Amino acid sequence: MGLTKIKHSSHSRHFLLLKYPKEPYKCQGCKELGLGPCYECEHKNCSFYLHEECANATPSAFHSFLKCSLKFHPRAPQGGERVCDACGQDVLGFVYQCKHKNPHDYHPSCLKLKSTLTAEDGTRLHLKEKPPSKCLNCGSSKTSNGIKGWSYVSSCGQYCYHVACVKGMILEKWKKGYFLKDGKVNKASYYLALQSSIPNKEVALPSGSSTSSKTKQIWKNAKTAGRLIICALFGDPTALILFCAKLLFDKS
Ligand SMILES: [Zn+2]
Ligand SMILES: [Zn+2]
Ligand SMILES: [Zn+2]
Ligand SMILES: [Zn+2]
Ligand SMILES: [Zn+2]
Repeated sequence: MGLTKIKHSSHSRHFLLLKYPKEPYKCQGCKELGLGPCYECEHKNCSFYLHEECANATPSAFHSFLKCSLKFHPRAPQGGERVCDACGQDVLGFVYQCKHKNPHDYHPSCLKLKSTLTAEDGTRLHLKEKPPSKCLNCGSSKTSNGIKGWSYVSSCGQYCYHVACVKGMILEKWKKGYFLKDGKVNKASYYLALQSSIPNKEVALPSGSSTSSKTKQIWKNAKTAGRLIICALFGDPTALILFCAKLLFDKS
C-alpha cells in the first residue's frame, strides 16, 4: 500500500497515491466524508483526496437491487437537487445515474457497499433495499426524507438501521465540529463520538426484554451493528478499527 500511483482526470496536473489517510478526509469527487483507503495528491499542499471507489469509478455499473444500468457522471446530468437513493445524502459531485425519466442516483462509494458485513463476534448484517423491520434509530421503516434508502439488517432481523440514519448521524457530528480539537481533526474524539452515537437513546426495546442483562445484550448487539455500518460507510482501515475497539475496551 502507498505505492499505487495514478493520474485522474479530476486532478490531472499531479499524480495521486493510494494511501491509508491519517485523518478523515473530504473526497473531492463526490464531496462526501471518507476514512478508508483513498487516493491523495502527492503534493501535500493540494489537500486533494478521492475515495478509492471514486477514483476507480467505471463508465457504467450495475447493482443487484436495480434492473437498470447506471452511467458514471462527474456531475449529475439530470439537474435540480439530487439525492443518493442508497444513503439519502445530497449528490454534489461524482454520481452513478440511470437513464430513466425519474432517474436513480448513487454515490460511487454507496454503490459499492458490501452486501454482507461480519463482526468479530459473528454478527452478520445484510444490505436490503427495503427494510423488513423498523430502523432502530428512527423507529420507522421509511427514512425521514421520504427516500426509499437502503438498510442493513441482522440475520435474526432484530437489528436494522437505515444507511441514511447512520450516515446522517455521523455527518451531523462532523459538521458540528465534534471531531475537532485546536482546529485539527482529533482521532480520539472522533471515535468517542462514533461510539456514543450508536444507538441513540430512543432505541425501542422489544417487549418482554425487561431484565437488565437482556437489555444490556440488546444494546451491545445494536452497538456492534452500528459500528459495522459506520465502518462499511466510511471505510475500513484496520488500524483505526483496532483503535476504536481499544477505546471500547478501555471504557468498559
Ligand atoms: Zn468520493
Ligand atoms: Zn495536486
Ligand atoms: Zn450515497
Ligand atoms: Zn432506473
Ligand atoms: Zn432510520
